[in-house]
This record gives sequence, C-alpha cells and structure tokens, in this order.
Amino acid sequence: MEQKRTATAEPSEAEEIPSQKKRKGPQGVVTVFPIWCKGCGLCIEFCPTKVFEADDEGRPIVAHPEQCTGCGWCEWHCPDFAISVRRIDGKEGDDGV
Ligand code: SF4
Ligand code: SF4
Repeated sequence: MEQKRTATAEPSEAEEIPSQKKRKGPQGVVTVFPIWCKGCGLCIEFCPTKVFEADDEGRPIVAHPEQCTGCGWCEWHCPDFAISVRRIDGKEGDDGV
C-alpha cells in the first residue's frame, strides 16, 4: 500500500503542469501588480509556457496571455505577491483571490 501512495503522488504533481493544455488556448488570466514587483525575474524565467517578457526595468509584461495554462507557478513563487492568476478552465475559485 505504501508503494501505491508514492506512485500516486508523483503523477498528481506532474498533472499540475499540463503541457498539452497550452495548445487549447488560455486557461488562466494573469495579472501583475507592478507596484509590488521588484523585478526579480523569477516569473519570467520559470513560466513553463513563456507568458512573460521583461520590460526595461526587468518587470514582467504579460506578452503572451494566450499561452497561460493557469498552472499558478508564478503566483505561488512570486516573493512579493505581485501576481494573481485566475483559472478559467472550470477550476475557478481554487485560488480564492
Ligand atoms: S499561471 Fe503563471 S507560470 Fe503558469 S502558465 Fe500562466 S503565467 Fe505561466
Ligand atoms: S516573481 Fe514577482 S517580484 Fe519577481 S519579477 Fe515576477 S512579479 Fe516581479
């Protein structure tokens, strides 16, 4: 039984990064609050579908919103809480903001 738990946990996490969904159109709406953003670049660098581009000050611009999968990585990892992601894939309300 312990082996099943381990095997089940890893695929579940992998499903949170749906590489195939990006081809179906946007599944998240991303909002960046530039007043709070310090331009660390984490979101720009690690967004799996490269939604962001950097402006002249290194702050993210939502340059490719159609590529957002709604995975929430940028929102969870932004050290300044400067990003909000609203899912539009039927799971809306999960983030609560
Ligand atoms: S939620 Fe954030 S990290 Fe995930 S695809 Fe959209 S912009 Fe990129
Ligand atoms: S992770 Fe947050 S603080 Fe860093 S560049 Fe992105 S929005 Fe700005």
